[in-house]
Amino acid sequence: MPRDLQLLPKAHLHLHLEGAMRPATLAELASEAGVPTPPVRGYTSFAEFGLQYRVASALIVTEDHLRRVVREVVDDAADDGAVWVEPHFYPPRYAGQLGSIDEVMEIVLDEGQRAAAARGIGCGWIVSALRDFDPDQAVELATLAAKYAGSGVVAFGLAADEALYPPEPFAEAFAVARDAGLISAPHAGELVGPASVYGALDALGAQRICHGVRAIEDPALVERLAVEEVVLDVCPTSNVMLAVVPRSRSTRSWRCSTPACAARSPPTTRSCSARACSPSTSSCATPSACPTSGSPSSPAPAWWARAPPAS
Ligand SMILES: [Zn+2]
Repeated sequence: MPRDLQLLPKAHLHLHLEGAMRPATLAELASEAGVPTPPVRGYTSFAEFGLQYRVASALIVTEDHLRRVVREVVDDAADDGAVWVEPHFYPPRYAGQLGSIDEVMEIVLDEGQRAAAARGIGCGWIVSALRDFDPDQAVELATLAAKYAGSGVVAFGLAADEALYPPEPFAEAFAVARDAGLISAPHAGELVGPASVYGALDALGAQRICHGVRAIEDPALVERLAVEEVVLDVCPTSNVMLAVVPRSRSTRSWRCSTPACAARSPPTTRSCSARACSPSTSSCATPSACPTSGSPSSPAPAWWARAPPAS
């Protein structure tokens, strides 16, 4: 018997904190700053999207702003039926302005925990390095993430433009994160094809890959993802908005039954046996906020076993 997707317990694994900001909050912060509201649609390139993302992030200038965004992102995930939410976060964005980098990390950990507890769900964080910064900074971030492993940080990620910055220089950072028991969850295989995914696997030890959809261009790679049980945190809306796939091939072309999905990906209609998580029903403010959800890729936190069955 069909069940209401909204009511199914879900894990919201692929969203970026600022990108998941409510459009109304974005408009309010822009008004407060006396600047135009950054666009949340209609990008013509990843570079334009990235610029607008950073413009939107720059509107968060106080601790109250940051706490509000965290709280609302967690609330929105809970409203969508998520029992676990796991945003990406880049702490250097606020370091200095809102305190030391540790203090910034502790603000989001604290507010995330408070907001999640208020809704009876769980919240973990992916500390995410940016590829367009020096790999040494990524090592520092991995060290920061490792410090908070077990205190709310659950994974280490890598975001920004794949086409300009391949994964290999970030191998040391991911080794630090993996040694601390964090999940390796870099972005790969959206703007670049299989080479990016191979790099994420071989150099970064990826256990989850944000997007990864262009792995479908290499059947051997799809087979490897399936055999190694690497989960793809897919976000079809992002793929469409960033022109990775034509708009005409809508998200309706995706079909997934987690954990072992039979996916029909946008680039082709090839079926595969790779693991992937499926999109949820939330709205999103930017492509990177596009919510995806599914079961966690590696040891499920205790809440997962306790999650009440959907009615
Ligand atoms: Zn992403």
